[in-house]
Amino acid sequence: MSDSINEKVRCLIIGSGPAGYTAAIYASRANLSPVLYEGIQPGGQLTTTTEVENFPGYPEGITGPELMEDLKQQALRFGADIRFGIATETDLSAAPYKITIDGEKVIEAETVIIATGATAKYLGIPDEHKYAGMGVSACATCDGFFYRKKVVAVVGGGDTACEEAIYLAGLAKQVYLIVRKPFLRASKVMQERVFNTPNIMVLFEHNTIGLFGENGVEGAHLVKRMGESDEEKVDIAIDGFFLAIGHKPNSDIFKPWIDTDEVGYIKTVPGTPRTKVPGVFAAGDVADPHYRQAITAAGTGCQAAIEAERYLSEIGK
Ligand code: NDP
Repeated sequence: MSDSINEKVRCLIIGSGPAGYTAAIYASRANLSPVLYEGIQPGGQLTTTTEVENFPGYPEGITGPELMEDLKQQALRFGADIRFGIATETDLSAAPYKITIDGEKVIEAETVIIATGATAKYLGIPDEHKYAGMGVSACATCDGFFYRKKVVAVVGGGDTACEEAIYLAGLAKQVYLIVRKPFLRASKVMQERVFNTPNIMVLFEHNTIGLFGENGVEGAHLVKRMGESDEEKVDIAIDGFFLAIGHKPNSDIFKPWIDTDEVGYIKTVPGTPRTKVPGVFAAGDVADPHYRQAITAAGTGCQAAIEAERYLSEIGK
């Protein structure tokens, strides 16, 4: 970490999903003059989603990017200082806490709100890298457009996989949903939508072991009932391969100072966004292995800003 301190702030918010922006709205209105760094994906995961139908206040639904832009504008309206930049290093050993931005600028913050969210997981097979940007994607709503009238596969059996499969079914000719178990983990309503979509074929008990193709993905090597006596190799012809197998919380740079669970979710005092470091709070998906919804993230962002305000008044800053 650089020795030079560039800037001192009362409230630093890291991340720009629903948690970060909601924290910024509350912290600005409480006169904490928050500085928010947007991170790698400004607007967070919802910018890669189409319709958001379950965020209260939008009876007709709203697109993810529009919702995030609304939240950002609301934070800006109250004076939040929203910047491009990625937190690359932290020193939370003593207040004021030092956060390095983009490997060079160091911010000294009296309070820190960690709202860094979570990132899509990959299977870990080498072909995912080989075909990155050439048929492999972790975001159907970002890249689905390229697969109009083509054949695609989605991997995963949770709500995300079902949502992505349904979205892609509206564009593509045929969608395979590759599920490693004999059942879907997704909610009943999503399962029903998948089963009622004629151009989605669910391949239960299939694992992906590789991809093939000359200048891009042309197919996937699958194994049916892998490890069983009746194991069978199956190849499918596809143009696109979409990962939807869950997310990894973006907590690595904070791990030396705060507690995380075995997956990496930040542990907070139950029912609060407080971490074990006074004045450092965690909000949204980075600290939420259970709900991971936009509205719950926004709620904990609000809590974190209120906690930051109370903490600052307690220490007289
Ligand atoms: P989940 O953790 O719920 O599901 C992940 C899926 O991927 C599981 O089916 C899992 O299989 C599978 N998987 C994981 N690793 C592998 C692997 N290596 N190979 C093959 N398959 C694998 O993640 P989601 O992203 O779907 O959902 C996260 C949370 O967000 C959930 O709580 C969900 O309900 C919520 N959500 C809600 C939405 C909504 O309400 N509209 C939309 C999207 C998400 P297995 O079952 O075998 O473990």
